[in-house]
Order: sequence, then structure tokens, then C-alpha cells
Amino acid sequence: MKRHFSLTLLVLLWNLGSVRSLVAQDLVVTGARIIVGNGTVINQGSIVIRGGRLASVSAGPPNVPAGQPPAGQTMDARGLTAVPGFIDGHRHVDTGSNEKVQMQQLLDAGYTTILSGGGPAEGNLTLKDHIEKGVIKGPRIIPSGRLDLGNGTPDAIRAEVRRLAALGIKFIGEQALTPKPGPTPKELENLRAAVDESKKVGVWIQIHAVSPQAMMAAVDAGVPKLVHTPHFGWLSFDEAKRVAAAGVKQLSTIGFGVPVFGVFADDNKPRFRDGRPWPESILDGDGRGQEAGYKAVNARTSWDAGVVYGYGTDTGYAPKAGLEHELKSLNLMFSMQDIIKLLGPNTASYIEMGDQLGTLEAGKLADIVLLAGNPLDGYWNLLNPKLVIKGGVIVSDQR
Ligand SMILES: [Zn+2]
Repeated sequence: MKRHFSLTLLVLLWNLGSVRSLVAQDLVVTGARIIVGNGTVINQGSIVIRGGRLASVSAGPPNVPAGQPPAGQTMDARGLTAVPGFIDGHRHVDTGSNEKVQMQQLLDAGYTTILSGGGPAEGNLTLKDHIEKGVIKGPRIIPSGRLDLGNGTPDAIRAEVRRLAALGIKFIGEQALTPKPGPTPKELENLRAAVDESKKVGVWIQIHAVSPQAMMAAVDAGVPKLVHTPHFGWLSFDEAKRVAAAGVKQLSTIGFGVPVFGVFADDNKPRFRDGRPWPESILDGDGRGQEAGYKAVNARTSWDAGVVYGYGTDTGYAPKAGLEHELKSLNLMFSMQDIIKLLGPNTASYIEMGDQLGTLEAGKLADIVLLAGNPLDGYWNLLNPKLVIKGGVIVSDQR
């Protein structure tokens, strides 16, 4: 009993200490180039952070809110560029023993918000809890859960949707539809039940639909969110317009199919994103890695048709290498101006946090990445964060 009490006390004190160090500080950033994310670029401006939020973002000297003294630490950011914190709308995190290291790697890469796809909902919820309580540092975690559409009855699927919602899950996203020849009648019946139930309990269904036929079947079933850009066949412009008209939002995940170099071994051999040989290890691949081409072109088709197209990787490998891989792939079809919109406001919209995240505008959460270079000159300039701020707290300092 005594041991139990002292352990509890120890954990409590430790948590209090961590929480204190994670309390948002009032901070003023001056002299930075600010890429707001809504199309505006301020060449030399200031950001005032109060209580974890952006109090003002302006050209020139800090615009301290009326009646308030300039408070907190001031940071001279001349030569640096501020962009909104990165969001991955569907990433697999490993909630195992290397959780702490992995979370810091994500922060160091510039990620301040992650929708944690894959794994059981309970593990994702525990991770979120650990980060919010300050047990470990990490990006803001949006936990998600999964359904098994290929098994069980519509009633069982509905019950699972209600169970996940009761746990506090807002996104249910790891389930997939058969890509080729297309979804089975059972998958679609279960999916329609899931979508219907999700609307009643206020959660969002995300789906892995990686062929145009699976994607359009998902859209017709009322799914609001797609994790992938299809990579088995071409998406027509008319289909993409149908996706946009339905208000369905989509994530990129276009690095799938594109070979990875120098991450798993320094041997100049092309690899799939799990480290196995490319192209033969591409999941369900057609051979010769043509998925890379489908993804890239279909991405632009969705974008041009007006789909809210955001950033997602659906991977679990090294955060910075994964970011580079996805950006390199996007760079084939998108301008840097497009990529800023895709990464920022579009992904924030995808995770239904457009009013809180995605741009550096007053009132939003103070999630900021300060970069050494200007990303408008090239995607590689998004890969060297000097300082990462999440909700007003400096969570990574690589100056
Ligand atoms: Zn996934």
C-alpha cells in the first residue's frame, strides 16, 4: 500500500513538472519571412503568441494587442521563414517501446499534428493522453480507429462505430475496399451502414480506396474522406469532379509506388517504403512501379477538379525521410504555392480543424515551423526546421 502511494506521488510530481514545462509561453517572433498559408507572404514580419494562440501576424514590428504590454520572450528570426506546422492526415505511428523517440522525430521534422491511423483505437487514445498530460512530447494526436468491412454484419459494424464514438474517436480510418476488380457487395453493404451510423454519432469515416472503381464506390456510399489517391488506373476528370461535388476530401499518399533511396540502406537500390525491393514489393503492385505514375497524375486530376486535396503519407517510416519522399513526389505535379496550400489549409480542412490550424492567422493555434530556407524556392527548404512551435510551446530547437 505504502509503495503504491509513493509511486502515485512520484508519477504525479513528475507529470506536474512536465506539464509546467509544456505550458505555452508568450512569445514574440520578429523579422521572419511569414508564409501565412492563405496565399499571403510577408517578407519581414512579426508573430505575437499569447496563451498558445496567434495573437497577431503582421508586417514590420510586432503588433501587440491594445492595452497589453509586450510580454514574454522575443525571438529574432531574421533570415528564417515561418510556415504553419505540418499536419499528416493519415500516418501510422508505432505506439510501442520507441514511441517517445518517434514522437520527437516527428516534431523535429516539423509535424505538429498527426492523425494516427492504423493500430487499435485504444493505443492511439493512450498516446494522445500521454502527450496531452506531458508524459512525453509529441505532435497533437488525432486518434482513429478501424472497421473490418469484409467481415461481420451491418449491425455489428454499426455497433463498432458506436463503440468507437463512445471512446472519443472522431475518425475511423484504417479500413479498405478491395481495389481490383472492385469492392465486394459485402464491403459496400457494411460501408453504407458505417457511413449512416457515423453521421448519427458525429464521427468521420475515412477509407483506403486505391483504385478509381473503389474510390468512386466509396464516394457513392457517402464516405466523406479518402486516404489515398488511386494508383490502379486513371481517374477521369468527370469522376474527379463528382468527388469534388460530393464534398469528399482526399489525401495525397502519392509517395506510394515511388522508390525510396538511402533510407533503409545506403546502397543506391530502389526500395518500397517498407524497405523491401522496388518495384516487386509494392503492395498488390501491377509491376514496374506504374503506381507511381497513376498516383502523380491522378493527384493533379483531383486538384484541378476542385477536390480539397491534403497531405497524408499512410506510412510509418522515418518522419523526415517520409516527408521528403512525399514532397519530392508532389513536386512532380504541383508548384510550391500549391504544396503550401495542400500541406496547410487543405490538410487542416481534411481533419476538420480548418478554423484552428493550417495557416498563420490571428486566433489560430500557434503551430509554427521556422525554416532556414525559403520553401517557395523549393520543397527541400521544408526539410530543415530550426525551430518548431506547437500551441505556443517550443517543441524542437535545432538552431
Ligand atoms: Zn493506413
